[in-house]
Amino acid sequence: MRVVQKFGGTSVGSLDRIRATASLVERSVREGHETAVVVSAMSGETNRLIGMARELSDDPPARELDALVATGEQVSAALLAIELNRRGIRACSWTGAQAGFLTDSRHSRARIQRIDSKRLLARLKAGEVPVLTGFQGVDEAGNITTLGRGGSDTSAVALAVALQADVCDIYTDVDGIYTTDPRIVPEARKIERISYEEMLELASQGAKVLQNRSVELAMRHGMPIHLRSSFEDVPGTLVTSEDETMERASITGVAYNRDEAKITIRGIPDHPGIASEVFGPIADADINVDVIVQNVSEEGTTDITFTVPRGDFGASMRILEGVCRKMKARDVKGDDTVAKVSIIGVGMRSHSGVARKMFATLAAEGINIQMITTSEIKITVVVGENEVDRAVRALHAAFGLEKGAGE
Ligand code: ADP
Ligand code: ASP
Ligand code: MG
Repeated sequence: MRVVQKFGGTSVGSLDRIRATASLVERSVREGHETAVVVSAMSGETNRLIGMARELSDDPPARELDALVATGEQVSAALLAIELNRRGIRACSWTGAQAGFLTDSRHSRARIQRIDSKRLLARLKAGEVPVLTGFQGVDEAGNITTLGRGGSDTSAVALAVALQADVCDIYTDVDGIYTTDPRIVPEARKIERISYEEMLELASQGAKVLQNRSVELAMRHGMPIHLRSSFEDVPGTLVTSEDETMERASITGVAYNRDEAKITIRGIPDHPGIASEVFGPIADADINVDVIVQNVSEEGTTDITFTVPRGDFGASMRILEGVCRKMKARDVKGDDTVAKVSIIGVGMRSHSGVARKMFATLAAEGINIQMITTSEIKITVVVGENEVDRAVRALHAAFGLEKGAGE
């Protein structure tokens, strides 16, 4: 077998953890698998580096921030390679640039364009273990780029696809994907197998256990992901194509995202093209708009409300104040204390009354729903940030997702 093993921050968070991780790599090699490894920075390191840059400057150049944070992964890759060599395993660390991860030039949110894997493949076939820095690449001009927070997952899946691996093992500090974040709901249940589609919705709606782009990539190429613990040797969760053996409950999981802000432009004179006048400048600034609601307001005017990532709130408000003046709209209002809560499941296609149950559950908790959006397998509501934990727990219980419930 050919496998890619990815180890997250806690799995390389100390020298002891690096030794434990080396044991997992060693086992794979001794079992005869061609093994390539991707690592994250030691836990806390990326935040520490960003913190230093921000102490120096409110607006550090994006290029230098990427050059800075990319060092975190280089440290853990080299340390793991050192430990593997000590154990008699031939291993070499590779930075994103050395490993041929070519990306576009969008610093801190770059996308992998291609991986020139010829050299890596030759070394792998010769019995060496390449240990790659996750989260980073290089653009056409030779600048170091990074793939967005949590991006090592995407590096690992991209590598698995490029090397035509049989599976991408993602090792982390939980032993699988749960029905919701076990840090919020200790009764959450481990899911044995989950479809790409559902995992993509969970990840996109805030379950940071996998970066959503890693799931997108795995789905596109049919690359199985096995998410498992580097602390405990137990089977994890298989993320794979939908099949008949999967559960058919109405809901598979609950996700939340606190990283949200809501903006409303009121009293926009209604005429064709207003949505593009509002969202064009936001898109030009590379800001992702998410939930959108447009309402008829007073005679001849309309209101538009939408959400953006909280980190883009200030920039969005500045842009929209300009747009508001130009369009002669009444005003712009913002709220950066909102959050999203979503229920997800392919079972929604065949179960009716799921939305009604969600809204009734939140009503019984006295939680006010500010916005609603749905897809075929997902319902998302925007609520106040301080209501997230309560909403997640109530929905998790109402849909019978706890351990032992209704299985
Ligand atoms: P790593 O550093 O290994 O990449 P992360 O912190 O990025 O690890 O992801 C693992 C964490 O994701 C878990 O500790 C858990 O709190 C969180 N998490 C959020 N939602 C879920 C979920 N549905 N199932 C499992 N873990 C989840
Ligand atoms: N070290 C990076 C981060 O903290 C990438 C990763 O861990 O996947 O976001
Ligand atoms: Mg992660």
